[in-house]
Amino acid sequence: ATPTALMVGTGRSARMGILIKNGEVLEAVNDVKTVIFDKTGTITVGKPQVTDVIGDSAQVLGIAASLEQSSEHPLATAIINKAKDSKLTIEPSQDFKAIEGKGVQAVIDGQTAFVGNDKLLNDVSVSDELKTQMATLQQEAKTVVFVGEGQRVIGLIAIQDAPKPTSKDAISALKSQGLKTVMLTGDNQAVSQAIADQVGIDQVVADVLPADKADQVKKFQASGKVAFVGDGINDAPALSTADVGIAMGSGTDIAIESGGIVLVKNDLRDVYKALELSKKTFNRIK
Ligand code: ADP
Ligand code: MG
Repeated sequence: ATPTALMVGTGRSARMGILIKNGEVLEAVNDVKTVIFDKTGTITVGKPQVTDVIGDSAQVLGIAASLEQSSEHPLATAIINKAKDSKLTIEPSQDFKAIEGKGVQAVIDGQTAFVGNDKLLNDVSVSDELKTQMATLQQEAKTVVFVGEGQRVIGLIAIQDAPKPTSKDAISALKSQGLKTVMLTGDNQAVSQAIADQVGIDQVVADVLPADKADQVKKFQASGKVAFVGDGINDAPALSTADVGIAMGSGTDIAIESGGIVLVKNDLRDVYKALELSKKTFNRIK
């Protein structure tokens, strides 16, 4: 490989907002068979909004916001914003605990309360009515979290994170090159499938805990090289494990450090451009 060609190639891509950090990704790119995407913040805008509150909405939102004060998750931001918009006072809470891929819990007025998905519920039972309402909301591509106090679920909050306007085009460009597209997410199957259908993703792997994202990438590597596109702290191991790690420029520092390619413009269509440019650069220098 001639260093000059490498620099020319990467210099040109840099002007397009595609940073190629090393030569290794260039070598892998010709053999990429699968492109795996994180969902939140990568395929979707990553700024979820609360759309529905089931139960006594002031109470449900109030408790949820009180717990989410200490969380930096996009869902937490959505809940706090909604509580503030509704002019609710957000009470303090103690002993905050984030449970990865599940939700959060804390103590309010001496009682343990929680917000999160069904994996957080353990022995707490949910009425059939709430289950039906949850299923309906999930089919509308909304993420639903339970809000509970002690051993009792007091309501649901539905949160919607719309796909980015360019996601559909970005996916179809990759598919037109014969690449398989996959969504890998900690969110549940129903919501993830609804969003995948909106943007044309071939396959969904849902309910994946952050610690298991890298293992999922390895599974797909059994059938060829893998590119992984992500933005979050929880995507860093998958970005390093993939043959081509592609980080969104808007992502967390650790994601950007872990990616071999960084998309400065945060345009998902640049995944296709990055792969094409890398191929051209590699074929020139080899
Ligand atoms: P993703 O892969 O989509 O970025 P995460 O692993 O961050 O997902 O979260 C997976 C799921 O865990 C969320 O969809 C939600 O159900 C639950 N969860 C995680 N953090 C929180 C939180 N702070 N509040 C409520 N629910 C949460
Ligand atoms: Mg994400």
